[in-house]
Order: sequence, then C-alpha cells, then structure tokens
Amino acid sequence: ETVLAQVLARNPGEQEFHQAVHEVFDSLEPVLRKNPQYVDAAVLGRLCEPERQIIFRVPWVDDAGQVQINRGFRVEYNSALGPYKGGLRFHPSVYLGIIKFLGFEQVFKNALTGMPIGGGKGGSDFDPRGRSDGEVMRFCQSFMTELYRHIGEHTDVPAGDIGVGGREIGYLFGHYKRITNRYESGVLTGKGLTWGGSLVRTEATGYGTVLFAERMLATKGESFDGRRVLVSGTGNVAQYAIQKAQQLGAHVVGCSDSTGYVVDEAGIDLALLQQTREVDRLPVSVYAERRGGAATFVPGRRVWEVGADIALPCATQNELDEDDAAALVRSGLVAVAEGANMPTTPKAAALLQDAGVLYAPGKAANAGGVATSALEMQQNASRDSWSFDYTEQRLAGIMHSIHDRCLATADEYDSPGNYVVGANVAGFTKVADAMLA
Ligand code: GLU
Repeated sequence: ETVLAQVLARNPGEQEFHQAVHEVFDSLEPVLRKNPQYVDAAVLGRLCEPERQIIFRVPWVDDAGQVQINRGFRVEYNSALGPYKGGLRFHPSVYLGIIKFLGFEQVFKNALTGMPIGGGKGGSDFDPRGRSDGEVMRFCQSFMTELYRHIGEHTDVPAGDIGVGGREIGYLFGHYKRITNRYESGVLTGKGLTWGGSLVRTEATGYGTVLFAERMLATKGESFDGRRVLVSGTGNVAQYAIQKAQQLGAHVVGCSDSTGYVVDEAGIDLALLQQTREVDRLPVSVYAERRGGAATFVPGRRVWEVGADIALPCATQNELDEDDAAALVRSGLVAVAEGANMPTTPKAAALLQDAGVLYAPGKAANAGGVATSALEMQQNASRDSWSFDYTEQRLAGIMHSIHDRCLATADEYDSPGNYVVGANVAGFTKVADAMLA
C-alpha cells in the first residue's frame, strides 16, 4: 500500500500508468507475504521506476514545406533479463504516461515469454493518419537521428506498436544503418523479410492471442470451432487474430476501427479487409461498402454491443468497459483474450471474472509478438533464417508454455483459473529473482 501510494504520488497525472501498476500490485500481496526478501530489497519500488527515460524533440518538414515539431520518447524500463525490448507507438494520444504504462506491462510480458529480453517502450505523439510516405519517412529519419544513440542489439531493441509497422521499421532501420555505418540486424525487430526480418513476426501477436485462447478454452472442453467471435481493431494484431480464429473454424462476425465497427454475419472477408485498411489505408466503412449488402457499418460505436461467444480486444487501452462487458456477458460470452495492451477497464475485468468468463490478460495473451521478435533477434545473431512452419511451431510452444505457467502459478497462489494472478505473479517473480541475483 505504501509503495503504491509513493508510486502514484511520484508520477502525477499518468492515469494509464497508475492503472497498470495498480493491476499488478493487486495480485502481489500473497507473493510478498511468502517472500519477504522482495520487500527487504524494495523490489516493488525499484520495478516501478524506469531505469532510464529519454524525451526528445523530433523536428521534420511536411509536404507543404512547413516545419513540424513532435515529441519522442524511449523509456528503458528494466534490463534484469536482457536488453530493453518493446515497441514504438506513433499516435496523437502518446505522452510519457502512456509509454510508461506500456513499458511497465512489457517488463512482465517479456519475462513470461521465457526469452532473454528486458522491457522498454517508446514512441511519439506524431499522427501518421493522412500523412504521405515522404512525410512519414522524414519523421522516422528525424526520430532515429536522436534514438540511434540509445539503442543497439545488446542495449535496447525497438519494434512496432500502434502506428508503426513494416514501412516505419524500414525507414527507421535504413536511417540507423546510414548514420552508424553498421548493418546491425538485431537493433530493430519487425524488419522486412528480404533484409533480416523473421517469418511469422507479422502474424505473431494475433496468432499468439488465438493460440493462447484456444488452450484456455480447452481447459473447459471448449474450442473456437463454430463459435461467434468479435475482434476490435483492424490493424496488424486484429487481422491475424481474425485469420487464426477462422482457421480454427470460428465465425468472426465483427471488427472495428476508430470510426466505428462493421458487422458481417457471413464472416469477415479478411483479404478485402486487408486491401481496404492495410493497402488502401481507408476506414472500415469502405470495407462495408465494398462487401455490398453482406456487411453493415455502424459509426461511432463499439463492436461489443453485437454480442459473441468469444471477444478478442485487439485495438487499444480501455476499449472495453463495464457496459461493454455486461452486454457481452448477457449475449453468452465464454472467453476474452486480449490482443491489445490493457484493453479492458478494471471494472470490466472484475465483471468478466465474477461472471465466470475465461479471461486472458494482454501481458500473457499478446506476448506472441514480442516472443517472435526475440526469435527474430536469435536468427539475426546466428545469421540464419528459419522456415514459416518451424517459427510458428516455436511460437505455439511459447504460447502454450505461457498459458500453462499462468495456470500453474494461479493454482499455487490459491486462485485456480485466474490468469491475471497467474500472469502477474509469474512475470513478477521471474524479474524480481533476476534483480535480486
Ligand atoms: N508492441 C508489441 C507489444 O506490445 C511488440 C513489441 C516487440 O516486438 O518488441 O508487445
């Protein structure tokens, strides 16, 4: 309680960060009682204070010749288990509190993967929406002009997150290479397949979320086969969650973007969705138009009101609240697996758990992305590249072992079936033990 109060007071106004810390601390009381060495060494307080926080100016010139100024961040959170690892988010909502919440989550998530990676996160309040390729390139180059001095394959390894995909990683890597004169493949992950990227990295977060959910459902004799599924988002995570759920026989009947959602009772046409959102960079309403009568676009509302057996929030933080959770439960919801980071509000998460819904928190369920980034680093370090099948097998093995460890840890702490306790405690003890050692 005292440590929590100190952390909140020390980081005023950072609501998302407070929420993330609160959520982890809620699970830790029995661990601290059993292991006084963590308290004696002030591990909790140390874990909440990032090892290093970098904030920098990112000036760039837009297509009209105007100078634009954005703010860049890299929070190097914890390096007990390996180099700082975590994505970059480019979105107008980004400020230090968002990057700290994401970095904090990343520390435990990365620990859960069992791979040798610490935790970090970065990004900018830059809004890529409506910007040309040239503008995005100049922004990325300016961003890297400062970032390069803080990162390295043994130091800090960024990747993508919201607003940062293959295109941005390409611009960032190209500029890193130019200003350092080093072909340092392992300095960024999510690279293109022709220059050091790993097969399955693109699919990994969405696939991993569904593989985790599949194993979780199996504990109750359930599966995706024939189930109604809703996915929020239409970005990288959502697209491949849809694909894997469909491969497992699910009917994915809805997805969304920041403008609203589409319902498509015949099942989302993934190729059309990717053409519309990824290639043409158009809103999801255009998907509905292109589907003719098969799909309906509902502006300004959340997809959860449609109701489903399985919900996969794959968009952003706090996108599923208490009312959404109640509506889903009324419609017969069986499971929620989070492809996004902290998409469920604390009240919604409590409601789901009280209703007996299987609930997989993001730091466990979406760890497949960063785990496959670690596999990309492994391939880069050995100057090797693995086949799709082999890499997917590795991903599946990692997701299953995260699932099983969460379940076993929850049992050990008298919270059977509670994946929140399992993930928080298993992640925490791994990092805490390394810090003590
Ligand atoms: N941004 C992703 C996450 O939230 C992936 C980070 C990475 O691959 O480093 O875990």
